[in-house]
Amino acid sequence: MPLSKRTQLHQARRLVVKIGSALLTNDGRGLDVAALGLWVDQIADLVGSGVEVVIVSSGSVAEGMSRLGWTVRPEQLHELQAAAAVGQMGLVQTWEAQFKRHDLHTAQILLTHDDLSDRKRYLNARSTLRALLDFGVVPIVNENDTVVTDEIRFGDNDTLGALVANLVEADGLIILTDQVGLFDKDPRKNPDAALVEQRQANDPELDIMAGTGMGALGRGGMQTKVRAARLAARSGAFTVIVGGKIEQVITRLREGDTIGTLLLPEQGRIAARKQWLASHLQTRGKLTLDQGAVKVLCQGGRSLLPVGVKGIYGQFRRGEMVSCIDENGKEVARGLVNYDADEARAIAGLSSKKITEVLGYISDEEMVHRDNLVIV
Ligand code: GLU
Repeated sequence: MPLSKRTQLHQARRLVVKIGSALLTNDGRGLDVAALGLWVDQIADLVGSGVEVVIVSSGSVAEGMSRLGWTVRPEQLHELQAAAAVGQMGLVQTWEAQFKRHDLHTAQILLTHDDLSDRKRYLNARSTLRALLDFGVVPIVNENDTVVTDEIRFGDNDTLGALVANLVEADGLIILTDQVGLFDKDPRKNPDAALVEQRQANDPELDIMAGTGMGALGRGGMQTKVRAARLAARSGAFTVIVGGKIEQVITRLREGDTIGTLLLPEQGRIAARKQWLASHLQTRGKLTLDQGAVKVLCQGGRSLLPVGVKGIYGQFRRGEMVSCIDENGKEVARGLVNYDADEARAIAGLSSKKITEVLGYISDEEMVHRDNLVIV
């Protein structure tokens, strides 16, 4: 029996759309500009309705091969990396040209998984992406193939898509693929195989389905998609695995149509995020807060501003976890700090307006943003 309309996509304010090489390319060579244009039309509509969208796009190797006149995919990794470097130019040019038809700007972001596990780079990438989204720009993310080859080797932009969903705290990750969704059995061998409409992302049955089902179909099969969905679920994002060639796929998802496979997080976005933070490493330093700051943090759920900080202890770097203590030395919160210890010392007690004057620049108005803060 079909499920009723899905509300998750309808309510989403921020989405990551991941599109793999198989979909983006024409017969495995060059980019399918027409298909890309159709997705852009739908994404532009979403952006027009106030939804923030980040695109994670592969396709650079295929485009590079076509630009270099190669008809056979090379085996050497460095040749594939070279093709990716050439093709990335065409990839972003194509996205940019297509979005231009809708008067939207795009931005190129090349990332590696390591960038996102290093705290400082994580926060830097996060601030840049947030700023771009605030400016109404559509970021186009790909793996930085010059320095990392995970996608070239494992077809792993699915994981990157999930990490980006964590990074921007997206409500959802849409993985457009060349299959209509995840099936409960391998549809090539089982005519009675049924599309899985909705599951919890952590459902162990999914592994069996992905493993025996579509997992064998080349790099970035269903297994990496299920894994990506679980990763996305850690920051409370849902994932839809859906056929990118389904007519009006993004618009239909937005309207709540039951297409593709919806994998749901156990927890809501905020709860998941806080748990993720709480599970973090040891703290690197301490900030003493004045009474006013303790109150706005604990009761108001607000960010910690430099003005509320009285003392700084320890040597920490931007992005590291610090403990926030009250004037009696009792820990009240923990969070990822936006400034290095020396900078934090220089701006403690000051109004955020003074940050530029003192440091010569401002990276954030907050010492610790409320999204990166857990009350203990
Ligand atoms: N990141 C690469 C791309 O965008 C890898 C894909 C591949 O190996 O074909 O094309």
